[in-house]
Amino acid sequence: MSFNSDDLDAFLWEVDVVTKQVHDIIDGKVDINKILEKEKAKQERKEKEEKLRKLKEEIKIMEELDKKRKGNPGKGEKDTYVRFCKRCFVEYEIDCEPCYHCNGKTITREVKKEFKIGKEKRTTR
Ligand SMILES: [Zn+2]
Repeated sequence: MSFNSDDLDAFLWEVDVVTKQVHDIIDGKVDINKILEKEKAKQERKEKEEKLRKLKEEIKIMEELDKKRKGNPGKGEKDTYVRFCKRCFVEYEIDCEPCYHCNGKTITREVKKEFKIGKEKRTTR
C-alpha cells in the first residue's frame, strides 16, 4: 500500500481528529451522542452521494438509449445497424419499429440487402 503525500496528510488529519475526539470523550468534554449524530449525518451524506451517483449513471444510460433510439444518419450500407428507415435515411442500432422520426415502417438489414441486390439485378439486365 502506498500513500502519496495528500493521502498521508488526509490520513494524519483524520487520526488527529479521532485522537482528539477520544480524548474529549474521556475528559467528558464531548457528548458521545453528538459524535454519533455527526457520524450518522456523515453516513447519510455518503448515502445521498451514492444515490446521486447512481442517478447520474441511470441518466447516462437513458441518454445513450435515447441516442440509439434516434439512430444514425446513413444510407443503410453499413453492417452495424439492425433496422433502417428509407424515408429518413436513418440507421438504427436497436430494433426500432416504427421509425423514431417519421413514425413510418423501418426495414431490417436483411430486407435492405435483398432490396439492394434486387435493384442491382434489375440494372444489370
Ligand atoms: Zn423515418
